[in-house]
Amino acid sequence: MLGRLRNTRKAALVAAFAAGAVLVTGVVVAQQKKNRTAPLGYSDTPVLPGQKWKVHDIDRPRPRLVTPGAKPGDPPSDAIVLFDGKDLSKWRTRGRDGKEQPARWKVENGYMEVSGGTIYTTEKFGDCQLHVEWAAPAEIDGTSQWRGNSGVILMSNYEIQVLDSYDNPTYADGQAGAIYGQWPPLVNASRKPGEWQSFDIVFEAPKFDGEKLVKPAYVTVFHNGVLVHHRQEIIGRMAHRIISPYKAHGPEEPLALQDHDTKVRYRNIWIRRLTGYDQQ
Ligand code: MG
Repeated sequence: MLGRLRNTRKAALVAAFAAGAVLVTGVVVAQQKKNRTAPLGYSDTPVLPGQKWKVHDIDRPRPRLVTPGAKPGDPPSDAIVLFDGKDLSKWRTRGRDGKEQPARWKVENGYMEVSGGTIYTTEKFGDCQLHVEWAAPAEIDGTSQWRGNSGVILMSNYEIQVLDSYDNPTYADGQAGAIYGQWPPLVNASRKPGEWQSFDIVFEAPKFDGEKLVKPAYVTVFHNGVLVHHRQEIIGRMAHRIISPYKAHGPEEPLALQDHDTKVRYRNIWIRRLTGYDQQ
């Protein structure tokens, strides 16, 4: 009997809360809208160390609006879409003579597939946020670095390795997500060959004064949503079996996708140029 009463009381409570009411000492009271107001900012607060703004500064510019993608991985409103599954209009390749030619990768079913040379964006980028989806060939053909090798080459110089690293005992600094030849990924977050995978990259371009490096590049990488580099310093250009120091280049350079003679596929590639705080 007591149990049933308790249950009835519990049911009443649940119903009351669902109806937007509160129970105060056994009496159900309709919840009143509070309609509280708060200041939009302050001007009598201390100046933040190293900034021109005060704490909660009323005059500090509000961040500009960006509409996020409809689902995770979709491009936000301020992204430059480099590949939407339809065409290679934002990409070029280079002939043996170094001259630009149309990119020749195969485009079908919403993806592009490596073929006919490394491709480069027509537009140049420096500091950026980059989203890339890729898949190594479903059929394993070869070992080690021949399993689905490609690469996302930032500024045409700094490679984040694309490889089928699923149960592939190749060298650590050549695995998927590695800063090739320099730093292995923190963990191996690879999916099986043939499955779509993602890189989300935040890149800080190196800075040069003439020929001299004054600030190295840094990179943060998420592989399939898992952190694999945390603002890691890049020690120089991508290279195989050697150390290749920095060589001065422009503040923006084309992004490249590597043709390493394996049929890696890419889809949904977008990039955002990074801007600082307080810009409208
Ligand atoms: Mg590669």
